[in-house]
Amino acid sequence: LESRKKRKKVKKTKENVQEEVLKHTFNPRKGAIKVGATITVSELSSAIGIRASEIIKKLMDLGVLATINQSISGEEAALIASEFQIEIEIEAKDLEDVLKSQATGEAITRAPVVTIMGHVDHGKTSLLDYIRKSQVVRKEAGGITQHMGAYRIYTDAGEMTLLDTPGHEAFTAMRARGANVTDIVILVVAADDGVQPQTVEAIHHAQAANAEMIVAVNKIDLSEANPQRVRQELLSHELVAEEFGGKTTFVEVSAITGQGVEQLMDMIHLHAEMLELKAKVEGLAQGNVIESHLKRGKGPVATVIVKEGTLKVGDYFVAGQTYGRIRAMTNSRGKNLLEATPSMPAEISGLDRVANVGARLHVLSDDKIARQIAERRITRSREEAAVKQRKTQLENLFASIEAQEFIELKLLIKTDVQGSAEALEETFAQLGNDNASVRVIHSASGNITENDVMLASASDAIIIAFDVGMEATAKKVNLDEGVDVRYYKVIYEALEDVKLALQGMLKPHVKEEVIGHCVVREIFNAVKSRQIVGCYVQDGKITKDASIRLMRGDKECYNGPLSSLKRFKEDVKEVGNHYECGVSFESKDVQVGDTIEVYVFVEESITL
Ligand code: GDP
Repeated sequence: LESRKKRKKVKKTKENVQEEVLKHTFNPRKGAIKVGATITVSELSSAIGIRASEIIKKLMDLGVLATINQSISGEEAALIASEFQIEIEIEAKDLEDVLKSQATGEAITRAPVVTIMGHVDHGKTSLLDYIRKSQVVRKEAGGITQHMGAYRIYTDAGEMTLLDTPGHEAFTAMRARGANVTDIVILVVAADDGVQPQTVEAIHHAQAANAEMIVAVNKIDLSEANPQRVRQELLSHELVAEEFGGKTTFVEVSAITGQGVEQLMDMIHLHAEMLELKAKVEGLAQGNVIESHLKRGKGPVATVIVKEGTLKVGDYFVAGQTYGRIRAMTNSRGKNLLEATPSMPAEISGLDRVANVGARLHVLSDDKIARQIAERRITRSREEAAVKQRKTQLENLFASIEAQEFIELKLLIKTDVQGSAEALEETFAQLGNDNASVRVIHSASGNITENDVMLASASDAIIIAFDVGMEATAKKVNLDEGVDVRYYKVIYEALEDVKLALQGMLKPHVKEEVIGHCVVREIFNAVKSRQIVGCYVQDGKITKDASIRLMRGDKECYNGPLSSLKRFKEDVKEVGNHYECGVSFESKDVQVGDTIEVYVFVEESITL
C-alpha cells in the first residue's frame, strides 16, 4: 500500500505529466500550421504532432485507407487535425512566389492577342484562312510557312497576334485557356444559322476570361443571311449591338468573298486602342505556352506568347513542369528570332519535355532553380494525382456496387500535339452516364510506342490515335498483345465512336454460336440415377463448357448446360468431329436418335 502511495505521488511531478502527454504526441508545433493541396500521412504526423498510426485510424473512420507514406488531400488533413482539436490552414502554396514579375521599365503599347471562337461550321477556319492568305499577299510580311498555334498579322492599322485554336468542341478546354491570353475574342456567328450552342459556350468562355468581344456575322454573302436575327438573338447574352443602344461591335463579313474582313481588322485595332494594352518590355520575360509538341530534329518545342519582358535565346526558363534553356526561337514565318517582346508569338526549342498547354513560362536567372521548380511541380502533381485516383477508385467502386453492372471504358490517347491530348481527355471524361464511364488512363503527344501498347494491354484499354502512327517496335509488340488501336483524323469521329461504344457496352450483345451436332446412340443408366448419354459427333465439336439443345425432330426436349463430357471414362474438355463421347445433363428425357445441337455464348466484342 505504501509503495502504491509513493507511485501516486511520483505521477504528479511535472516531468511525468509531460511524459504521459508524449505518449500520444511528439514535437508539437506552435503557431499556425499550413498544409498544401496534399500532404503525406507522415508529414501531417510531424506537423500536428500526432502519431501516424492515430491519423491512419482516424482516416479509416472517414473511409479513407492510407499508409504512412501516402498522400491525403489538404481537406482530409484539416479534418483529421480538427479531430485532435488542432487547426490547420490549407494553402495552395506554390513556388510562383519565386517567380515574381521581373520585367522593368515603362510599360509601352503592345499588340492585341485575338482568338476566333464560335459554333462549328460557322466559318472560323475560313476566316483564319482568308486572313492568312491576305498576309501571303503582303510581300513585306512574308507568307506563313509553318504551322504554329499563333501568328502575327500585319495590317495597315498595325499588328496583332492571332491564335489559331482549332474550332471543334473537343478543343473547348484549350480554347478556354487560350482565352486567358486573349485580349479580344472574335465571335463568329453564321448569318444563315444564328446563335447555336457553341456560340453560347464561346460567349461564356470569353466573358469568364474578361475578354473584349467583337461579333463577326459571317456568311453575309449568302442570300439566306439574316444578320438582324443574329443581333436579336445575342441580346439575351448581353451582347447588345451599338444600333440597339449597346456597346458590342458587330461586323458583317464573308470569309469567302472577303467582304468586311478589312473592317473587322480595323475594329480589332480600334478596340485594342481603347483597351490601352501595355506591357513592360525590359527584363526577364514571362509568357504562356499556346501549344507544345515534339518536332523532328528539334525535340520538344513550344509556341509561347510573351506577356511581359523580353524572351531571349539562351534564357533559362521553367514552364509548368518543363524547364530548359532556349536554344532557338522562330516566328510563324520560320524566321529565326533572337528576341521576342510582349504579345509576340515564338516557337522555342530547348525544353526538357513537351510542355502543358496553357503553362506559364518564367525566365529565371538560375538554371538550377528552374530545374528544381519543375521537378517539385512534377512530384506535386504526382502526389495530387495519387490522391485523385484513390478518390475516383473509391467512387467508382461505390458506383459499380450500386449499379451492379458498372462499366468502364479505358482509353489511352495519343495525339499529334499536346493540346489535343488534353482537350480529348477532358471531353472523353465527360462522356458516359450512371452505368458507364470513360477513363483515360494516359494521354500524350507523339506516336504510339511500345510502352503505350504494354500499358493499354495491361489495363484492357483501347488506344485512340489522333493524327499519329505507331512505331515499328510497338507494332511488333502489338502482334502479341492484340490491343485495339483506332486511328482518327477528325476529333468528332473519335467522339462519336466512343459514345457508340459506351452505348454498345451498356447492352452487350451476347450471341449464340452453334459449334457442332451430335446424335444420341446409347443411353447408360449410371450410378445415382444419373444418365450417361453416348453420342457420336456428326459435325463440328462438343466442348465441356458448351450448352446443348436436345432435339427430337422439331421438338426441343432440353436446353441448357452440359454437366459432364467424357471420352471412355476420362473427363475431357473437348471432343472433335467423328468421335464418340459420353455426356450428361440435367434431364432424363433422352432417346436414342435424338440430336444434340451444341452451342456456346459469344459476347460480341466491343465495336468501336
Ligand atoms: P468552322 O467549323 O467554324 O471552322 O467553319 P469552316 O470555316 O470550316 O466553314 C464551314 C463551312 O462554311 C465551309 O464549307 C465554308 O466554306 C463555309 N463558309 C465559311 N465562311 C463562309 C462565308 O462567309 N460564306 C459562305 N458562303 N460560306 C462560308
